Amino acid sequence: MDPETFRRDLGAWLDDNANDLTPPYEGIGSMDAHMAHYSHVKRALFDSGFGRYGWPESVGGLGGSPLLRAIIGEEINFRDLADPNAWTMIEVLAPTVIDFAPPELSARLVPPFLRGDEMWCQGFSEPDAGSDLASLSCRAAETDGGWVVNGQKIWTSFIEYSQRCVLLVRTGQPESAHRGITALLVDIDSPGISYSPIETMHGRRDFAEVHFDDVFVPSDRLLGEVNGGWRVAMDILPYERSTTFWHRGALLHRRFSDLVAQVSAAGNRGDAAAKALGQAFQWIVAFRSRSRDTQHQLAAGEQLGVETSVDKILITSAEQQLFETARDLLPGVMEFDDDLAAALWRNDYLYSKAATIYGGTAEIQRNIVARRLLDLGPES
Ligand SMILES: Cc1cc2nc3c(=O)[nH]c(=O)nc-3n(C[C@H](O)[C@H](O)[C@H](O)COP(=O)(O)OP(=O)(O)OC[C@H]3O[C@@H](n4cnc5c(N)ncnc54)[C@H](O)[C@@H]3O)c2cc1C
Repeated sequence: MDPETFRRDLGAWLDDNANDLTPPYEGIGSMDAHMAHYSHVKRALFDSGFGRYGWPESVGGLGGSPLLRAIIGEEINFRDLADPNAWTMIEVLAPTVIDFAPPELSARLVPPFLRGDEMWCQGFSEPDAGSDLASLSCRAAETDGGWVVNGQKIWTSFIEYSQRCVLLVRTGQPESAHRGITALLVDIDSPGISYSPIETMHGRRDFAEVHFDDVFVPSDRLLGEVNGGWRVAMDILPYERSTTFWHRGALLHRRFSDLVAQVSAAGNRGDAAAKALGQAFQWIVAFRSRSRDTQHQLAAGEQLGVETSVDKILITSAEQQLFETARDLLPGVMEFDDDLAAALWRNDYLYSKAATIYGGTAEIQRNIVARRLLDLGPES
């Protein structure tokens, strides 16, 4: 299906089903309510067929360009129908699992994920391995019919709601760095997995610290090759930086429109307000212009690489600039008001601070641009 027809048909379907798809909670809602509604929207999209476009037929999709998936997230975000953060896990993890899992495994496990019947999480970061991911130490020892995993992960988003986890473990010698890492697809209900939720500063139990104590993982859960986990991790990168960013850009665009309306309603129509809004809008447009090319490159099957660090810098800058502008142009609202709109601005403002940390920190992205794109020399 061509993207414009898809957008038109999808838009009409979303409008027809607006009552059913609109969140039952007002504003922020609890994490439980968000996740339940997210699953409801995913299921409705999948069963209508729209949610199957852009995915291969081998995992229950209807084929077509990944651009169709970008359009779905955009239309959902423009209408504020589901939590964009939960949505990211599908776009980040499913394409890589399709690339690296044995075909019969992805044919069995990916469809429930795409339909929202399951949630998956990403177990990469550890207390001593974040930016320097290659130093991770959660270990898998080979045993009869699989592996036994021992160690710890941290900041694992959505694990409380997840059935499976794409896990990076060390299978080589400790000094083997990125050459001794393996990727496994682990069932969260396996004996020996325990976790303690961590609350964010905006008051949500988004992620957790996870412990693995003699967790058995069968050998058919290997993604890629033994000691080939770094390739799997690097394969995730372009997916993380393409469709999911496009979805988030749509969310920022919608929140920008909310801000213009609220600033105008508050009677703040001076030049200073117009200039601040213009600057915030410029960042969003810069990101979306850049990301448009990234979506088309992905759709054309081109290899995306380190240049997507520019997309990451642009979207995090756009996000933080937008919510700082909201704080400045709606003075005292975030800090003192209790109504729904104020709670949403406060929530988005606080969460925007995480944007320069998750998925690769701002400093690391700038290092990549300096060294690998601009060739400005080694780290001193
Ligand atoms: C909201 C959120 C959700 C997350 N979800 C997940 C998830 O689902 N799964 C998962 O595995 N992880 C997740 N993470 C973790 C995230 O990937 C890490 O926080 C990130 O990679 C940074 O690692 P770190 O926190 O250990 O910081 P560190 O790597 O310890 O960095 C600390 C500071 O030092 C700077 N720094 C480090 N090295 C350098 C360098 N060489 N040059 C210059 N500056 C440097 C960093 O930029 C940063 O400012 C999430 C994080 C957040 C905030």
